[in-house]
Amino acid sequence: MKRVISKLLRFCSISTIAEPDNKTNVSQIDSNANFNKKLQIEKDLAKAIENEDFDIYYQPQVNTEGMIFGAEALLRWNHHEWGFVSPGEFIPIAEETHLINRISDWVIKKVCRQLSNWEEKGLTVQSVSVNISPVRLMEKGLVEFVTRQLEIYNIPATCLEFEITEHSLLKFDKSVLSTIKELKELGVRIAIDDFGTGYSSIEYLREFHADTLKIDQVFIQNMSTTNEKDKVIVSSILHLAKGLDMRIVAEGVEEYDQFHFLKQKECDYIQGYLFSKPVPADMYEKLLRVGYIKPVKQDVKPAHEQRKFYRFDFPFPVLGQMTITEVNNRRVDVGATEILVKDISLGGVKVQSSLKLPVNADFKFKFKFIVMDEQFNLKGTLRWKDKAKGDTYHYGIASNLCRKDEKRLASVINKMSALRNRNQEIPGTEFVYDDSLLIS
Ligand code: C2E
Ligand code: MG
Ligand code: MG
Repeated sequence: MKRVISKLLRFCSISTIAEPDNKTNVSQIDSNANFNKKLQIEKDLAKAIENEDFDIYYQPQVNTEGMIFGAEALLRWNHHEWGFVSPGEFIPIAEETHLINRISDWVIKKVCRQLSNWEEKGLTVQSVSVNISPVRLMEKGLVEFVTRQLEIYNIPATCLEFEITEHSLLKFDKSVLSTIKELKELGVRIAIDDFGTGYSSIEYLREFHADTLKIDQVFIQNMSTTNEKDKVIVSSILHLAKGLDMRIVAEGVEEYDQFHFLKQKECDYIQGYLFSKPVPADMYEKLLRVGYIKPVKQDVKPAHEQRKFYRFDFPFPVLGQMTITEVNNRRVDVGATEILVKDISLGGVKVQSSLKLPVNADFKFKFKFIVMDEQFNLKGTLRWKDKAKGDTYHYGIASNLCRKDEKRLASVINKMSALRNRNQEIPGTEFVYDDSLLIS
């Protein structure tokens, strides 16, 4: 297909760059070439609809435990000559020629039929997301069409989610907003796709009342190259969406450390090759029967353990106390709570606590503990969170030590490491041998 399109484009561009005698010729050649190009693709796409050369693949969306909660329907064009053609290649042409309207309706119908088929088989299908082109949104009759399909196949509207790209928000006029409103009234969920790459403002997010925000895969994929900026962007999007009470799906998750980071930042849902590529309906059905998917790659080294500083793991947790001093730059006074210090470095500590803190908020702490008869009173900020035993959590707290504390702590860590290497006890430290202390 690529070859055919590029041949066609070459044909078009050769025609357009040919030195013309006058302006009338340029526009004539231009319009002829465009006309030919559109005609060819249009013909093939139109035939594809009639021949049912399209297929729908389903890419599972999972929560951080790997439980399937839905899927995205992705169109595949199985051309008799060219094989599988990527939607990225033919959707823009279908949009240009307005054939996307027929294609969109075909997808909606097929998804509704599939949903009812799964329901008849007794499978629990939470929702399927369908990509909706802005062209189809602007065409009349979408709400009526969707209503009819839901009636024909007797499925609840909440099973459907429409994905609208952030880019297309720009093209929206008032009529589109009212179409979205009507779809929402019907019960169809709305997702903003490829968030972060377009130009939509926060204002749009508020106006839309979208249910879901899908973080574009460019941010997710750049995160693995220790790109701090992309991590900050992803954290901020997560924070923003949480604040607006939106569901968040991170798209394009391929690596375990990307997943680990997202999990720590309390991203709700994941879609990506790490769990599954888009698969044909029968394969997705098999996945649904199992209900959950394991990541294809395993944890090599969690991001939070790739530290700059040497970290000392206590043989048993050390009892300490923690006080929250600030939340989102506001001072708070909530008293001290018991914590277990699991490991320590000059960069911070890992603690276990029964407090459930939202990791996206900006927390500042004071914590104290005694090791080798030295008391440490440190300040820190919350960096990451992991579920621990029972109703407890592990928290990573980064601390910026003053030079005096840094020297004291470095000396204590050195002494403790030496003792551990000689299998000797660490004196003057309040170890907790019963880790159920925090579990109520
Ligand atoms: P999209 O809606 O953002 O869909 C996600 C794309 O990312 C899909 O590409 C999916 O296969 C791919 N993807 C998911 N996880 C990963 C990953 O971990 N790594 C990588 N490298 N890619 C991943 P696909 O299927 O080629 O679709 C491309 C685009 O075509 C879609 O982007 C969507 O904008 C459009 N599209 C697909 N189906 C339809 C449709 O039925 N209607 C409309 N209007 N557009 C569609
Ligand atoms: Mg999408
Ligand atoms: Mg997307």
